[in-house]
Amino acid sequence: MITRFAPSPTGRLHLGHAYSAGLGRRHGSKWLLRIEDLDPGRARPEFVDGILEDLDWLGLQFDGAPIVQSGRTQLYATALDRLKAEGLVYPCFCTRADIAASLTAPHGDAGSAYAGTCRGLPDDSERRETVPHSWRLDSAGAIAKAGGVPGWRELDGSRHEGTAEMIGDAILARKDAPSSYHLACVVDDADSGVTLVVRGADLRPSTPVQRLLQLLLGLPEPTYLHHSLVTHEDGRRLAKRDQAPTLAAMREAGVDGRALAAQLAMDNLPTGYRFALP
Ligand code: GLU
Repeated sequence: MITRFAPSPTGRLHLGHAYSAGLGRRHGSKWLLRIEDLDPGRARPEFVDGILEDLDWLGLQFDGAPIVQSGRTQLYATALDRLKAEGLVYPCFCTRADIAASLTAPHGDAGSAYAGTCRGLPDDSERRETVPHSWRLDSAGAIAKAGGVPGWRELDGSRHEGTAEMIGDAILARKDAPSSYHLACVVDDADSGVTLVVRGADLRPSTPVQRLLQLLLGLPEPTYLHHSLVTHEDGRRLAKRDQAPTLAAMREAGVDGRALAAQLAMDNLPTGYRFALP
């Protein structure tokens, strides 16, 4: 199986990333590293260096060269053009604040909060040329074209259904960023031949829209492994705002990265952490 680890270089990695990376490594005869750096406001080169350092410390070796999304925007533009040609996306002139959340993994339903303000506007090429805009999936049209909301299959053999509410008119591209997380993710997974998508359960809500995009773009269906998140003992998510210690901090404190990776491979977490309940 071909798997990948796809961190966004918007901060240092924590224990949850180490768990996810190790799981991906063990399941993949080929394990790829993909840097999801399409958000110009948040991605930083020093965090890319940090990811490489942390994986090296854990003793997790990826195959081939890292795939860096910011260098691959032409591929995403081509995919978007195909959806435009089929009338499955529409320009949206709503403000940046409305749509800022679309560029990184959404950790929530994919665009379902959008009120639909720009859906069904008459085509106005002059406005498109002069006013910054994003492109949204016409989810109703897309679902009709695909013959329904596609489900997905997890590695344990379970099948999961998606619903229209999980899809929403997701943003697929933004003026200052050529592709959203969803579009780049499906294009890259297919382009790299990824057969098993290993990622945290917080990204499960992204799967229906990604499966729909795969169908619309004629891309193969991967299997998914959405794993339990690592949390603090009290159930708080690992996030910077919760002062989750980074792998870099653990290294500085003298932790042995390879020994840690070996423990994580047996689902043993250090004291103070647990897996989120399903
Ligand atoms: N870049 C995403 C994140 O860091 C992961 C995307 C994925 O694995 O599909 O949350």
